[in-house]
Amino acid sequence: MLVSPPSATSHPSVAVAARICADRGVNLTPLRRIVLEVLLGFHGPARAYELIRALQDRLGKQVGPPTVYRALDFLQQHGLVTRIESQNAFLPSSPDTVGRGAFLLCNDCGTSFQIDMTDLDAEFSRHAALQGFQIARRIIELQGICRDCQRAAADHLVRDDRP
Ligand SMILES: [Zn+2]
Repeated sequence: MLVSPPSATSHPSVAVAARICADRGVNLTPLRRIVLEVLLGFHGPARAYELIRALQDRLGKQVGPPTVYRALDFLQQHGLVTRIESQNAFLPSSPDTVGRGAFLLCNDCGTSFQIDMTDLDAEFSRHAALQGFQIARRIIELQGICRDCQRAAADHLVRDDRP
């Protein structure tokens, strides 16, 4: 099976999310917008409690978990946020690629990239169809070490080798 080289896809901006919601006739309320903004400010996936803490800092008031979970549910429904199962954390995502591609997650610094793998997605669909299976949700998480962390580790080794 040939797989084209993965290309990193960027997260949508809040403006893009607002346009998507407008096109779909759904309301990106101020709270939903702020939840997305705060999430975009994280370096990688954010756990719910981290998100709640950051939101409270931003708003300067208490925010109940149910309120945040409702906003996250909405954002997930529209592909603007994806739940990273292995970390029980949330990541901004692009609705064009949600349910496709894969997430690369760095175990060291927590950074994450969403990559598009159209050929692989087509293969999954083909194999599932052969089994008469309809895929409802597909999230692929690949854990490892990002380029920057590998470089930092290599630099560290070089330094340690010096007399
Ligand atoms: Zn890293």
